[in-house]
Amino acid sequence: MENILRADVALIGAGIMSATLGMLLKQLDPSLSIQIFERLNNAAAESSDAWNNAGTGHSAFCELNYTPERPDGSIDTTKAVKIAESFEVSKQFWAYLVANKIIRHPGDFIRSIPHMSFVWGNKNVEYLRKRYDTLQQCHLFKGMEFSTDTQQIAAWIPLVMQQRNNEEPVGATKMDLGTDVNIGSLTRCMFDCLSQDPHVHMHYGYQVSDLRKHNNYWRMEVKDEHTDDKKYVVARFVFIGAGGGSLPLLLKSDIPEAQGYGGFPVSGQWLRCNDPAIVQQHHAKVYGLAKVGSPPMSVPHLDTRWIKGSQELLFGPYAGFTTKFLRHGSSFDLFKSVKFSNLKPMMIAGLHNIPLTKYLIEQVRQSPEERLDALKEYYPGAKMEDWELVVAGYRVQVIKKDEEEGGVLEFGTEVVSAKDGSIAALLGASPGASTAVSIILDLLKRCFPERMQQNTWQQKIKKMIPSYGKSLGEESVLLNEIRDYTSRILGLDYSLA
Ligand SMILES: Cc1cc2nc3c(=O)[nH]c(=O)nc-3n(C[C@H](O)[C@H](O)[C@H](O)COP(=O)(O)OP(=O)(O)OC[C@H]3O[C@@H](n4cnc5c(N)ncnc54)[C@H](O)[C@@H]3O)c2cc1C
Repeated sequence: MENILRADVALIGAGIMSATLGMLLKQLDPSLSIQIFERLNNAAAESSDAWNNAGTGHSAFCELNYTPERPDGSIDTTKAVKIAESFEVSKQFWAYLVANKIIRHPGDFIRSIPHMSFVWGNKNVEYLRKRYDTLQQCHLFKGMEFSTDTQQIAAWIPLVMQQRNNEEPVGATKMDLGTDVNIGSLTRCMFDCLSQDPHVHMHYGYQVSDLRKHNNYWRMEVKDEHTDDKKYVVARFVFIGAGGGSLPLLLKSDIPEAQGYGGFPVSGQWLRCNDPAIVQQHHAKVYGLAKVGSPPMSVPHLDTRWIKGSQELLFGPYAGFTTKFLRHGSSFDLFKSVKFSNLKPMMIAGLHNIPLTKYLIEQVRQSPEERLDALKEYYPGAKMEDWELVVAGYRVQVIKKDEEEGGVLEFGTEVVSAKDGSIAALLGASPGASTAVSIILDLLKRCFPERMQQNTWQQKIKKMIPSYGKSLGEESVLLNEIRDYTSRILGLDYSLA
């Protein structure tokens, strides 16, 4: 590698977000030169790897935290509709990649799997019924089934109902249009394609250690992780898609828009079933309700997955306390991220979230028996010897300044960009990869506003995402057409609603 590299665009991190931005930019302007830096030795080795996330194609079919109950008892579906629409946008872009033979085998990264919610107890069953009734008013959720009949539910999810106390009322919804997405496989496919482009250069084992704005370009310092040698990169536009590593780099950029941002890291673990006979008896992603006082990212789910061509069964995630921002990060990450500009929001958010921190510390200290007890709520017949504990990815939740509170902790994703559009960073992790395409389109609007208005870019985007500029939550005929098209190309089960 030469000592100074020049590019139109520099992407930091080889996860799904950089891959999506790189692919979209290359479709929009093939002449762009792109330099990509990844501190690890391969792509998608942090949150985007299949073992590090749940692989749920988040569509708000089963995730109960996307449909909170309002104080008056009604169900708020605003977030659910937005997430369901965003996932349809992602599927359109992925279908474009498959239709254009950029990705050959959709089955390597996306498969149909019913998305189910499962609850017990009168109050929770009543909530689920109301949620179902409310969602039925929007065509995005047509086809969802609801049942309180134990036999019906046992036919859908036998493991969940076997050996369950029959006295307690239970309720479930099922949506066959759900998906399992191997985000890691998809990411690697996109980088494979990008690396074949003569104007794109991938640098594995290179950590971006500093970045500074000089006039109308950014100058980045990158360090070879194996030799400690330093190189320099000059780029007109920089995307900080470094996952948990984004916050420290954003703070180093010194852009005023980064002031006040901090991060709250959360680790994760799964229980993985090691008995293929049990794995074969479950065919759904079953999401429950988070325990009172627990954070949204610890909503338990019993998940069918496909990883490296094999069917898997995972339960979790068990969220925990950590001071690392990345799975392959340093225990000093949290402390090093405290700066004068974010000290107040971080302290206030920390003080307001002491119960959450306590909860996460308790989670880390859980005994194997306690973890098994949590699993038994979803699979009463579970036995310790059939399950092993595996490490999941880390998430860094966003802390930001707040006029009233001083500092707040948020659980979504957020794009932070400079006013001149020359740099943008993605913070947060939820709903994450499923909404990557909408997130990146939003980023393009902020950072390439003139080009996004141009007819050529508009036409190209509409070719990739036929529903671009329209609301799939409002246009039922269009939604049906789009779902029919994406399902055919991606090999998903769908019958017209
Ligand atoms: C437990 C868990 C469950 C999840 N479940 C789901 C789910 O079911 N569905 C869903 O859609 N999403 C889910 N997510 C979220 C999803 O995994 C993330 O939103 C997504 O993978 C983030 O992609 P990314 O590209 O931003 O980051 P990453 O995939 O983490 O990639 C960032 C890359 O940047 C590199 N990097 C960091 N710092 C530097 C640096 N200084 N220089 C160079 N490289 C650097 C890292 O090594 C890494 O490879 C889950 C996440 C977790 C942790």
